[in-house]
Amino acid sequence: MDQTVILKNVRPWGESATDVLIREGRIAAVGPAAATMEAQSVDGRGAILLPGLVEAHTHLDKTLYGMPWNRNSVPSNLVAKITNERNSKKRIGLDPARQSARQVALSVGHGTTHIRSHVDVDTEHGLAGVHGVMATREKYADVVDIEIVAFPQSGMLIREGTKELMDEALSLGADVVGGLDPSSMDLDPKGHLDVVFALAEKHGKPIDIHVHEPGELGIFTTRLIIERTRAHAMGGKVTISHAFCLGHNDYLAIGRLLEQLAETGIAIMTTGPADYACPPLIRTLDAGVRVCSGSDGIRDCWGPYGNADMLERAVFLGMRNDLDRDDDILRAVEVVTTGGATVLGLEGYGVKVGDVADLVLIDGETLTEAVVSRRPRPLVMKRGRVVARDGAPLFTTE
Ligand SMILES: [Zn+2]
Repeated sequence: MDQTVILKNVRPWGESATDVLIREGRIAAVGPAAATMEAQSVDGRGAILLPGLVEAHTHLDKTLYGMPWNRNSVPSNLVAKITNERNSKKRIGLDPARQSARQVALSVGHGTTHIRSHVDVDTEHGLAGVHGVMATREKYADVVDIEIVAFPQSGMLIREGTKELMDEALSLGADVVGGLDPSSMDLDPKGHLDVVFALAEKHGKPIDIHVHEPGELGIFTTRLIIERTRAHAMGGKVTISHAFCLGHNDYLAIGRLLEQLAETGIAIMTTGPADYACPPLIRTLDAGVRVCSGSDGIRDCWGPYGNADMLERAVFLGMRNDLDRDDDILRAVEVVTTGGATVLGLEGYGVKVGDVADLVLIDGETLTEAVVSRRPRPLVMKRGRVVARDGAPLFTTE
């Protein structure tokens, strides 16, 4: 039976304290709430109330979190990392179902209620990753919503059989068509994008494509994606992840590109990387482009970093983009909340009456202070049910 819960003394988005009544998994009222007989009361102790954080780009299938430490000695280039990972998975015993569940627990503990995960599809491992993450999605459906992107990590055309596997993944239950560096990976941008958009059309699914290609090459790829998004009338349903080329030092060219991205409704995912030029956050937002963010890979064969905390991600966005003013830091918070929600097309996202009670409490004097301090989250709720307390999930994984 659905419980009625009153969250007492919480501050929506850091504003004045109030009470929030939750009934049948949704926010039923905001304001001084009288305790009712059947209502369970939770003391928010003046914490800030946000809608659940949105992890809009990660790779649940390949985190090594919770496994013995992986000594990384891989050369720092894309193809070496891709090859090493493909060849290492079986040797080190990477089980996508077990590992994705471990990362889900980490994420939920930090207040994430929605995850978009790219999941490898290749001719070596087939659909093992997709099956594993689908199992986790089902098992933990009560604590988090997971969207699966079928992701041709090892290339689409250079490995025969990949596009058929992508097709199968989408028939099985993947939600989004992925892609990867159409020019530099497959050396065939037209062929790569033809497959991506044809799969999207066939299955009626959105697209989220990794574009690491820098500078002029990335701009070329982005223009091709814009052209196809228009031709296939897929405005609002395409995301470019990373889009490092938007950090290219050509003010006018980037301005024109941002205008076209806004006009076609193509969203951008940026992690605010420390090591690459990347989309300038405020300029991209001001151009009217939807922006989301994510942890990308966490403790995997690529690198040892990451903790799945989307508030920390907001700090990385702030540091990368030189955001010191409170108002600007709050825009980074919007990226990891409402920005992600608009890209994932979440219904009822927010802390208003009628919204789904996917919520996180955060301790802090102001929202900015809470972000820079990042104390353990006192409470996380999924559809009105408490799923984590004091930074720890209330469920176990293998
Ligand atoms: Zn990625």
